[in-house]
This record gives sequence, C-alpha cells and structure tokens, in this order.
Amino acid sequence: MTTIDFQSQLQDVHAQINQACLQANRNFQDVQLLAVSKTHPVSAISEFYQLGQKAFGENYLQEALEKIEHLKDLEIEWHFIGHVQRNKTKHMAEKFAWVHGVDRLIIAERLSNQRPENLQPLNICLQVNIDDQDSKDGCAPDEVAELVEKISRLPNLKLRGFMVIPKPEHVEAFTTTKQLFDQVEQYHAQPEHWDTLSMGMSADMAEAIQAGSTMVRVGTALFGARDYSD
Ligand SMILES: *Cc1c(COP(=O)(O)O)cnc(C)c1O
Repeated sequence: MTTIDFQSQLQDVHAQINQACLQANRNFQDVQLLAVSKTHPVSAISEFYQLGQKAFGENYLQEALEKIEHLKDLEIEWHFIGHVQRNKTKHMAEKFAWVHGVDRLIIAERLSNQRPENLQPLNICLQVNIDDQDSKDGCAPDEVAELVEKISRLPNLKLRGFMVIPKPEHVEAFTTTKQLFDQVEQYHAQPEHWDTLSMGMSADMAEAIQAGSTMVRVGTALFGARDYSD
C-alpha cells in the first residue's frame, strides 16, 4: 500500500501557487486554495483539515452530504462544484457555503428561496462555458450580462464571480474569462460582492493565476489520483 504524504503535497501546492503569484506580480493571499475532495474519504479530508486547509469542494451531492454529516464538528467551508440539478437545490441551499455551478436563473432563484434564514447568504459563482464546448455545462458568454443583472438582485445569494473549466491546454480561455469578469461590475446590482474568479485545477493552476484567478480548485495534486473519473 502506498501512502501519500499529505503534508508535503499541501506544501508543494502552496509553493506552486506562491511561485505563480510571484511571476504574475500578485499576492499569495489573493489566491485561495479549494481542496477538491470528490471520491476521497473523510479521513483524508480531516487530515488536510488538521494541516490547516478549511475549504473543500465536492461534485456529487449524495457523497457530499454524507461527508458533511460525518465531519459536522469541523469548521469546514463546503463548496459544491458539480453540475447543479434543479431538483437538488434544497440540500445545496441548506448545506453549502458556496455553489460554483450555477448557469440558469431558475437554479439561482431556487437556491435563494431555499436558503435558510439563519444562514449567511449563499455564495454563488456563475459557470460560463467560455470556449463553447458541446459537452460542458455553463451559460454562453453572451448570456452573462442578463444573468448577472437578475441573479445579483436575489435576496439570499451573494453573486461572487465566475467558474470556468476550459478545455485542456486551452489557457487563453483564462484571459478571455478575466476580460469578461472585468466588464461585469456595470451589470451587477451589488458590485462590491464581485470578487471571485474560480479557475485553474491541478494541471493549469499557474496559467490560471497568471490570468487573474482568485480561487484554484485542486484535487489530484493534493489527494493523488482518483479511482474513477468524472
Ligand atoms: C475534479 C474537479 C477539479 C479538480 O481537478 P484536478 O485535476 O484533480 O485538480 C476542479 N474543478 C472541478 C469542477 C472538478 O470537477
């Protein structure tokens, strides 16, 4: 059995983020690390938690809900980064701090309506299909203005930014996303909330940071390879 040294993996990812920030002339504090724990056990999540990592991202709702229940004594900030199905919004509104895969108004409306009163507003990223992939979720770039105008007015949400998953090797898409991101303040009802660019994964975090990412979503480089792919 091989054991992965989580401490050195975490240090290595921090070093990569730091190096990318230096090259881009940006502050290390301005790029958050979201640890993508899908398919990995709760024991691995609590190990990273003990090492100081507090934000975790999950893709599959049922799996996520079980982990959240198991780890409810830890102060984890849970992010849902998978595809959001319309009939699953209630659990997301109740159990997560962030939802990154919002790409339709109806989904945002449901999340806002279902967010419990006693919780902080739910943080939202609008997923944009930035390089026009047939297979990918996300709204089209030309739908962004209207969606931002409407979603940013919903009461129990904070519309924070974009989430993108460009095609592998298509790093120019990060720059295109940043340009679109910078134009949004004029449509946003509360532009002071618009501060997050969720882009970059294990293989392309440096390029994403170079283009202006503020949150990299890293799975493999922290936890090792997943047994099954999505
Ligand atoms: C799985 C996943 C990641 C992490 O990918 P790695 O290549 O393992 O770092 C990031 N974002 C989303 C949306 C994912 O589904």
